[in-house]
Amino acid sequence: MYYNDDSVLFFDGEYVKAKEAKTDLYGQSLHYGYAVFEGIKSYKTANGTKIFKAEEHYDRLRRSAQTMMMPFDYSTEEMVEATYKLLEINNLSNAYIRPLVICSPNMALSKGQKSFLVIEVWNWDNGYMANQMRIMTSSFERPNPKAFKVEAKVSGHYVNSILACQEAKDKGFDEALVLDADGNVAESSGANIFFERDGKLFTPAKGSILPGITRATVFEICDQLGIPYEEKFFKPEEMKGADAGFFCGTAAEIVALGSLDDVPFKLNWEESLASKVQTAYRHLVLEEDYSYLKSNLQYV
Ligand code: PMP
Repeated sequence: MYYNDDSVLFFDGEYVKAKEAKTDLYGQSLHYGYAVFEGIKSYKTANGTKIFKAEEHYDRLRRSAQTMMMPFDYSTEEMVEATYKLLEINNLSNAYIRPLVICSPNMALSKGQKSFLVIEVWNWDNGYMANQMRIMTSSFERPNPKAFKVEAKVSGHYVNSILACQEAKDKGFDEALVLDADGNVAESSGANIFFERDGKLFTPAKGSILPGITRATVFEICDQLGIPYEEKFFKPEEMKGADAGFFCGTAAEIVALGSLDDVPFKLNWEESLASKVQTAYRHLVLEEDYSYLKSNLQYV
């Protein structure tokens, strides 16, 4: 699914066959989840293969490594260049890109001594993952921000995401809505969340969330289209039965929510402002103009 006999990955400055790449089984990253990573996408656009928000993602990777006190010297430019080369070697355009920074063997609970950059790429052609998702409020909370550096994208944090996502699937839902330690809506297992009410979008304020690059892109789109939005803390009750809701993330893109805890959102998705944001996002990743959506908004 992710690689075959011909796939090549980037490992510590070299382009190597995925099947032949090796890592150390005594590493801190494997034992303690002490690794940082990114999830990026590239698209086949009219201007060639383009990595969406490449600089923002690699800047965040550098910040995550720094936050976790890992020695890490790659510049954003070097990583962007290596990724374009890797996509070319693997002959990929619409791809998912997974950079991962792992640390050398060390069983002590001290900071990393040496890090290695891995970049893996694989084909991603299937557009939106799902639509009209049925989500449930999880019994798992987001990690306490006093216990973790929640704004860094750290591998170990994702054990919490696996618990939340699997619980939702086991109960027959598509995804989890995870609250923070105060019972406020935070995000899903791997995406940020918005809801729409009376012509305005709302999203959880920073504090317990991973503030996504797609979330920032939604703000950018709203500014362009003149759609009002607000970041604030709110309880799931405020979101239940709202006009519309969506998840947003690099992998999910903008995905419509059908219901929260079996309470449906009110509007037909196509009638929501959120659907305009979804359409605009699709255009933006393909480097297409979406300003025409602005004039359509008057009729919403
Ligand atoms: N929250 C979590 C927990 C995530 O894993 C992701 C995906 N990286 C996001 C939010 C969305 O982030 P982005 O838009 O930067 O992909």
